[in-house]
Amino acid sequence: MTKGKETKPHIGILGRRNSGKSSLINAMARQEIAIVSNTPGTTTDPVKKSIEIPGLGPSVLIDTAGIDDTGELGQKRIAKTHSALKTIDLAILVISENQFGDDEIKIIEELNDFGIPFFILHNKQDFQPLNKELAEYLIATYHTDVVEFSARYPADPDRLALIMKKLMPVTAYTFNTMLGGLIKQGDPVLLVTPIDTEAPEGRMILPQVQAIRDILDNHAVAIVLKESELEVFLGMMQPKPVLVITDSQMFGRVSKIVPESIPLTGFSIMLARYKGDFDNYLKGTPHLSKLKDGDKILILESCTHHVTCDDIGRYKIPRWVSEFSGKKLDFTIVSGLSDLPHDIKDYAMVIQCGGCMITNRQIINRLKAAVDAGIPVTNYGMVIAWTHGIYNRAIAPFLNSEVKM
Ligand code: SF4
Repeated sequence: MTKGKETKPHIGILGRRNSGKSSLINAMARQEIAIVSNTPGTTTDPVKKSIEIPGLGPSVLIDTAGIDDTGELGQKRIAKTHSALKTIDLAILVISENQFGDDEIKIIEELNDFGIPFFILHNKQDFQPLNKELAEYLIATYHTDVVEFSARYPADPDRLALIMKKLMPVTAYTFNTMLGGLIKQGDPVLLVTPIDTEAPEGRMILPQVQAIRDILDNHAVAIVLKESELEVFLGMMQPKPVLVITDSQMFGRVSKIVPESIPLTGFSIMLARYKGDFDNYLKGTPHLSKLKDGDKILILESCTHHVTCDDIGRYKIPRWVSEFSGKKLDFTIVSGLSDLPHDIKDYAMVIQCGGCMITNRQIINRLKAAVDAGIPVTNYGMVIAWTHGIYNRAIAPFLNSEVKM
């Protein structure tokens, strides 16, 4: 089941210098947002712009440096373009003047490697139309749309919107509900939310609000209480809840009150399953019990805002993992979507944040290097559950197997 658009699809505009990528963005956005110049290599860092795309809604266009850039600085720009690939859901490969060669082939190989859909846009149609043989070759080789376009005289930019809508993975702009498949219409769901000194003044924290909204979207019934009222209320409650979700740090106390016959999970596990690479988290999390002295752990915070989890990523997670393992560990924290440390194989484990500010695809692509190298990956929510001894019961509502701790 899917619901409304909770994140913006990211579209990367790739191509050689001076193929008209920036002009294309301006044509799509119908305004001058990227610097346009006839001097090759005007775009250095990827430039982002939010626009509304018919059928997709709010989206982010990412203008990148030329894939054929030269010189030392050029290589740095190319590296930034390649790193931008990890953040996109769809790519438009811009070519012009019938030029298609090694640079394009290489970038397509990378797109395929990341599983990013793309189409090819032959720009500057007004200057030189697309050669029929090249068009046929591209369609036959890459099995994707090949579009003639003139960013200078854009006849029908909405045609591009239709292609983007067709190729964009649905997961880029819709999400499975957090509790979809677990609850149905009319089901009572109990949410245990401590209001302690760590709770923000006068409001609920985001995962709690998201859970309430999700329960309502599923036409189920949300009942919210503090742990101090749980035992008495649960005793009186009829019918019993189909699911109890608690703050993870209360899990131990709550699990003694909630009978085993009632499924119980934590807000953090619910979020880990909702956003991220849950299957690989399930495989990787048990490695927390195998850490050794001197192991290096990479913590990935996916934004630099740290509005909600500065404290968790920087202090709590390292402390919980160190205390749980009893080992001397070496933590590295990388913020934002900047490049990962070069040798991922140096790390014994990678711990990804909840990723509330980025797309599912961005999380999966960010973890890909570690997953490909066989490094165990997990996320904050799974770490909290594992190190607090609540893992098996907390993941049980989402699967049926037990994992040995
Ligand atoms: S994206 Fe990650 S680091 Fe940023 S606020 Fe969300 S959970 Fe925290």
